[in-house]
Amino acid sequence: MSEQKDDCLFCQIAAGETDTELIHESSSMVAFRDINPQAPVHILIVPRKHIQTINDIEKVDIVLVGELVQKAQEIAEEKEIAEDGYRLIFNCGEHGGQEVDHLHLHLLGGEQLGSLT
Ligand code: AMP
Ligand code: ZN
Repeated sequence: MSEQKDDCLFCQIAAGETDTELIHESSSMVAFRDINPQAPVHILIVPRKHIQTINDIEKVDIVLVGELVQKAQEIAEEKEIAEDGYRLIFNCGEHGGQEVDHLHLHLLGGEQLGSLT
């Protein structure tokens, strides 16, 4: 079974089928700037494998999810926001505000972010 979904925007971006500039790519993931940034640094880290949401993570995906977090850490270093701090977010489903049904990790930083509580 294919790990991509033809009509999925993030599968298309990962496959290089759009003009989105990738700031990182490897065999397992890509990263690119969010088109509607919510902070000075707002990057999406996206597995090539089409996984719809965090609800769909299986045991076989655990290493991949860890690699997304590790890549976020590396990009935060590159963008020089690591020391000041940043936020990582997986939105999940309707109540979580997920708009694109392909798993992605938001990296947000570059300014003091609002409190969540
Ligand atoms: P979520 O609400 O967690 O599903 O986040 C989806 C994110 O994808 C939003 O922050 C959008 O701004 C972003 N987005 C949608 N289309 C694109 C695109 N073509 N390139 C980059 N980011 C996008
Ligand atoms: Zn997809």
